[in-house]
Amino acid sequence: MVTALALAQRGMHVTVLEAEATYDEKPRAATTHASTLDMLDGLGIGEEVVRQGLISRRFQHWDRVSGKLIAEFDFSVLGGETNHPYAVQCESHKTVNICAQSLTAFPDATLLHRHEVVGVGRDADHVWADCDTPHGKQRFTGDYLVGTDGARSIVRRLCDIDFAGYTFAERFVGLTTPFDFEAKFGYSNRNYFADPERFVLLFKVSGNDFKGLWRVISKDGMDEPDDVVLSEAKLQERLQYFWPNDTRYDIHYRGLYKFHQRVAAQFSKGRMFLAGDAAHVNNPMGGLGMNSGIHDGMELALLFDLIQSGKADAAILARYDRRRRPLNVEYVQQVTVANKHRLEEKDPVIRRERLDELGKIVADPVQHKAFLMRASLIDSVRKAGTID
Ligand SMILES: Cc1cc2nc3c(=O)[nH]c(=O)nc-3n(C[C@H](O)[C@H](O)[C@H](O)COP(=O)(O)OP(=O)(O)OC[C@H]3O[C@@H](n4cnc5c(N)ncnc54)[C@H](O)[C@@H]3O)c2cc1C
Repeated sequence: MVTALALAQRGMHVTVLEAEATYDEKPRAATTHASTLDMLDGLGIGEEVVRQGLISRRFQHWDRVSGKLIAEFDFSVLGGETNHPYAVQCESHKTVNICAQSLTAFPDATLLHRHEVVGVGRDADHVWADCDTPHGKQRFTGDYLVGTDGARSIVRRLCDIDFAGYTFAERFVGLTTPFDFEAKFGYSNRNYFADPERFVLLFKVSGNDFKGLWRVISKDGMDEPDDVVLSEAKLQERLQYFWPNDTRYDIHYRGLYKFHQRVAAQFSKGRMFLAGDAAHVNNPMGGLGMNSGIHDGMELALLFDLIQSGKADAAILARYDRRRRPLNVEYVQQVTVANKHRLEEKDPVIRRERLDELGKIVADPVQHKAFLMRASLIDSVRKAGTID
């Protein structure tokens, strides 16, 4: 949706083919980093994303075993480097809806729901997508096709592009609760709790009613059926284990997730491109998947515009792969894998070293800033500018 908006704002015709009737509200991306907020400002929607989300300046790492705060990062140190020295917790369906609303201002932008892409093709000058629609099969043609159809991308599969990497064996339990963890325990809007056995992530989002909702993601025990893992009794037990409390937790959403680390072997084939989860998937420790996908879309919109305006010829499109693929590997895959390792490290000596290292980084202003420049993908954006 961000890609579509970026294309429309650059004066291009764009048609979005969305299989579903509505947008998925299952809890997924929320953390929107400074680099992305700066881009969204350029599309005129940054302010609305901030308004509908929660500003998060602090980001805490805890040792769940000892209960000690290991490090508190403060995004204010990014002042001067970005217009948004913080992260914003804005649920991705809100960002999608903001884009959909903005797209209505562009007569050359068409948004079609219940249009499932079932086939794609290309020749030297065009691309096409065949869709199952409520009105039967329809073909849509264009100059370029961008597959932003998620991790199971049919565009990627039909382009015969390998999705190399791996899927973690363990499942993760995700749930939401309005319980106020900040009032009770003093946590920030974004918290990681390291534990060799059961690490856990805790985030606050504003929620659809803006009253505040907390998301908890923790590892599943693996050996129990889904309905048992997600039963009220088991989820209460899980929350009480992490955060003992004298009352029951009010649980709103519950679900199971699998996480992956995969990158498409190439991000384009001829006139077809992959962006977002269709091109790369990663574990959510770092809040980077959606951010990286938005950066893909912004890069593509820029490249198409360079061609449209006659400032470059089609050869420039090869820059998409040259930039976006290595940047995803370096700033998203490597960082999220390192984050997961740090949270779950079992060796007591290495575990101590990794947690101590975080404390030292926060204590040193230079390292503190450097860590957040990387974590917020500002470094990635700057590095993109060095890759021609
Ligand atoms: C628990 C969890 C927490 C996360 N937290 C964060 C976070 O805080 N920050 C962050 O940056 N990332 C986060 N992520 C990752 C993030 O959710 C994803 O990277 C992001 O949502 C991917 O967006 P996308 O648009 O590429 O794909 P999707 O959101 O999967 O959207 C794909 C769209 O394509 C449609 N579609 C699929 N197939 C077809 C078809 N054949 N025809 C037409 N339409 C089709 C789908 O209906 C869907 O609307 C998290 C992920 C998880 C699981």
